[in-house]
Amino acid sequence: MTLTEKVLARSAGRTLLQAGDNVWTSVDILLTHDVCGPGTIGVFKREFGENARVWDRKKIVITPDHYIFTCDSKCNRNVDILRDFAKEQDLPYFYDVIDAKPGERWVFDPAKGNKISQYGSRYAGVCHSAVAEKGHTRPGEVMIGTDSHTCSAGAFNMFSTGVGNTDAGFVMGTGKILLKVPQTIYWNLEGMLRPGVMAKDIILHIIGELSVDGATYMALQFGGDGASALTMEDRMTIANMAIEAGGKNGIFEFDDTTRRFVDERCKLNGTKSDYTPVERDKDEKFFSSYSVDVNKLEPTVACHPNPGMRKLARELRTEKLDRAYLGSCTGGKTSDFYAAAEILRGREVKIPTFAVPATPEVEGDMKTLTIGGKTLWQIFEDAGVLMSANPGCAACLGGPIDTFGRMNQAGTCISTTNRNFPGRMGAKEARIFLASPATVAASAVAGSVADPRDYLQ
Ligand code: SF4
Repeated sequence: MTLTEKVLARSAGRTLLQAGDNVWTSVDILLTHDVCGPGTIGVFKREFGENARVWDRKKIVITPDHYIFTCDSKCNRNVDILRDFAKEQDLPYFYDVIDAKPGERWVFDPAKGNKISQYGSRYAGVCHSAVAEKGHTRPGEVMIGTDSHTCSAGAFNMFSTGVGNTDAGFVMGTGKILLKVPQTIYWNLEGMLRPGVMAKDIILHIIGELSVDGATYMALQFGGDGASALTMEDRMTIANMAIEAGGKNGIFEFDDTTRRFVDERCKLNGTKSDYTPVERDKDEKFFSSYSVDVNKLEPTVACHPNPGMRKLARELRTEKLDRAYLGSCTGGKTSDFYAAAEILRGREVKIPTFAVPATPEVEGDMKTLTIGGKTLWQIFEDAGVLMSANPGCAACLGGPIDTFGRMNQAGTCISTTNRNFPGRMGAKEARIFLASPATVAASAVAGSVADPRDYLQ
């Protein structure tokens, strides 16, 4: 069996299964957020009753993260709905925006500006980064989330996928989900990335090979010495975008890098620390199998209007830009900002450039990690980047009109985010180009798409 088949077989209590089988699977973690959480709760209450209890209070993780730092009252209300539900159900893993006093409601104050943090001590930021940081990603387990990029957690040797509110409401009541076992496409990653080339370039290359629907309802399994050499943050970037090729999930092998990250995070947060990874079988059967020599990859860009429109950054040097954006679960992690800071150090951006840390922990790292005696935060500010001290999804998904960095009108933006269909970051006339943090930083300095290798220092 493949890694995906092995996780699902164990979860379904089967010794053997194969692609195409339909199995009732036991869910280890149900993840939801402010956009889909209220709808999921609505389905749960409608189907199971107003006084129903969730199937397992310790297996539900709720992370408000999408439309948070906005004056939109309906968005603010969504956070309050989550808080009320978490209180009603006594959920230990609700990462509230504020340290709410009894009866207190969430209200964003725009008068404070973007550099004043408005979140409380438990706020965790973007869900896919938050579940890893907070110790909810355990090898060999099944995570279901009301977010298409839930596949991100496949970096941790999990089966992890996104579903709609109806399925999630059912999981909330029963802990079960009926899944068709996906076929697997295997990607053997060989060699090491060269300077200026990042994990984002690997996945943009792969999506360019597959197109946006070439892996529809399939698992992408990543292995090889190139995969082993990647950090957990790199693996998350790659697994995160499996969905952009239509994939059901992405999955990596378990190794010491995984073990160290997971053990440290579970210990730090006091979450369940026992788990059983899945390992590769000799007789695993793939739908297809490919090799990528990552040493040969170059900085890569997905052009408007979809993540499969692959070109090399150096082929796009005449493409003028109006904006650059650094953030999201794909490109808003500490290592992402570190790579961008290495390019921005001692330089100024030519176009409006926005940076939003994915989580409070990333924000903290940016304010403490240094390059050449300056913090990453200071390097960004000195370069003229507009910073937000309120981590979250921000403009990755467009959001309400007052969202930091949102494309409110036509224009071309280069972004570290993961999706660029029309309207994704706001105005449907806006053109979005997806690239690595290094490429986005270099392009911000150049004012047009740039190859970061020309800016390495
Ligand atoms: S950062 Fe973007 S892709 Fe990630 S969870 Fe938020 S909206 Fe989705």
